[in-house]
Amino acid sequence: MKTKKYAFKAEVSEMLDLVVHSLYSKKEIFLRELISNASDAIERAQYLGLTDKTIIADSPAWEINIVADKASRKLQISDNGIGMTAEEAESNLGMIARSGTQAFLDSLKSGGGTSAPDMIGQFGVGFYAAFMVASTVTVDTLRRGADQTAVRWQSDGKDGYTIGASDRATPGTTITLDIMPEHEHLIEEWQIKSLVKRYSDFIAYPIRLAVDGKEIDPDSEPLNTMRALWRRDKSGIKPEEYAEFYKHLTHDFSDPLRTIHYAAEGQLEFRALLFLPQKPTFDLFMPDRKHGLQLYVRNVFIGSDFEELLPPYLRFVKGVVDSSDLPLNVSREMLQDDVIISKIRKNLVGRILSELEALKRDDLKAYTDFFRGFGRVLKEGLHFDYENGDKLKELMLFASDRTADDGLISLRQYRNAMPSTQQEIYYLKAETLANARGNPHVEAFRKRELDVLFFVDPIDEWIIDALGEYDGCKFRAIDQGEIELGTEEEKSQAKEKLKDDEQQFRPLLDFIHARLTDDIKEVRLSNRLTDSASCLVADEAAMNPSMRRMMQAMGQEVPKTRRVLELNPSHPLLKRLLERFETERDSEEFAKQAELLYDLALVAEGSQPRDPHAFTLTLASRLAE
Ligand code: ADP
Ligand code: MG
Repeated sequence: MKTKKYAFKAEVSEMLDLVVHSLYSKKEIFLRELISNASDAIERAQYLGLTDKTIIADSPAWEINIVADKASRKLQISDNGIGMTAEEAESNLGMIARSGTQAFLDSLKSGGGTSAPDMIGQFGVGFYAAFMVASTVTVDTLRRGADQTAVRWQSDGKDGYTIGASDRATPGTTITLDIMPEHEHLIEEWQIKSLVKRYSDFIAYPIRLAVDGKEIDPDSEPLNTMRALWRRDKSGIKPEEYAEFYKHLTHDFSDPLRTIHYAAEGQLEFRALLFLPQKPTFDLFMPDRKHGLQLYVRNVFIGSDFEELLPPYLRFVKGVVDSSDLPLNVSREMLQDDVIISKIRKNLVGRILSELEALKRDDLKAYTDFFRGFGRVLKEGLHFDYENGDKLKELMLFASDRTADDGLISLRQYRNAMPSTQQEIYYLKAETLANARGNPHVEAFRKRELDVLFFVDPIDEWIIDALGEYDGCKFRAIDQGEIELGTEEEKSQAKEKLKDDEQQFRPLLDFIHARLTDDIKEVRLSNRLTDSASCLVADEAAMNPSMRRMMQAMGQEVPKTRRVLELNPSHPLLKRLLERFETERDSEEFAKQAELLYDLALVAEGSQPRDPHAFTLTLASRLAE
């Protein structure tokens, strides 16, 4: 094989630059990354070997070896895992195949730089970490299976890489690092031992070390205990061990928010070690996002990314499930409608939801922070996991008219604060919190000290149906249909007053309606407003304004529905128009100003006025008077 030169893909060069120069302050983690790759490679070989016997024809004793030589400043990490073909070396080490990478680099450039260290791990830059400490990285690798040739990949991490022939004779991979003089201390025996202990103790294969020109002794005690954390007894595990394992699993830089570790026994036997992250990953809403859980069968790695283990609305949960009931040769296809898997899933979901409930109960502030990051995903569950609907409702948080700027309350809190006369849970759907707070419909509720939930998340539109009822109360949109507030006496007094007003205002109302018949079904007086002059009311069955805007934004035809324009007879603007009506009713100027009531109502609910330019002109000319 002739040695050929290749240039790194552009995003690799950028990434290398970031990794080497700025991101990791702990250079030592390069070792963890390389050991973790070695372990991945062995797991992969084991898994493929289940169905393709040529892969494990040599019946290997799986191992990871480290050879350190201070004199030549060389450090080698070898495994007898799956290895790579020349093509694999080129595509796995020469480019970053993950679709999120470019998006990540873009977000860094557009000023999101501060969160870079938190995020970069998720992109799998693992291997490139070697260039933080090495001037040259050489990979000698032989792919497992029949008829493979060994290849050598080599790079200085700057000008691309070469691929050529290698004299490696046994399957697996050896990474050789020429350690830079300033990082020489990383080749010390005690250093390596303590790094392996700290970062890689739970790796399931023996990691052995040879120093100063000696050979690896296969009978020597490994540096790691190899005890899969999830198989160990909970009581003996330190929080740091959980945190280290979590970081190994997710590449997250922060500790997990909560750890769930348990063994199911009886009819169903499995162990689960699950983590709730503190912050969402960048790909939470991307179509090719990763699913959280790894599946093991009796301590043998089967695969990651099994959607069958957890419903998509819990995709932020990371961790490991180890089953004693599944066959070792289980395949992805078999998992799809496997009874055991669906039982495990049910159990996991129950456990996770209870954990969230406990978090909410014990530390509402932490839960609120969590919900801000993951609430949108959790809400998907209301739609898809009917069975757990009641539990999920308890986990929901919303802003309301009473919450402080960024506060959220639960349905339970809202329900408990309802006066005995209130029968329904009031909500308003709006695009932003500011829009919701400024919406005229809220005024009457505020005046009567009734709280209103604000649904300002785009997904809220889709969960209203799924919410259905909470604790015997229906959900009621305050901008649809008539809602009568107050005591019987208040209601009848208000009706009387409205009747009187009606008599006075009737000609003006008819006049306005005549100008707006295309858009408006009816113009009437209302006492639902206090500060605003006008608002728009839809039929109870009608599509609400934010839904309309959303459909319009998606380019969909939205059926034209005419709403009711309600006017506030106590508002100075109405009073003034009434005074002028008799004398000015024939002037076009007056008519335009009267029509403003409609545009004002549109603006108040977050919609555009009919003709923004004309609207501002009319308004400005009035203000100048
Ligand atoms: P990740 O481990 O997240 O996939 P890395 O940057 O650590 O990302 O590694 C990139 C890829 O290089 C791996 O996905 C794997 O295909 C390949 N690779 C790295 N080290 C080894 C190894 N020791 N044996 C086989 N393949 C490896
Ligand atoms: Mg890796």
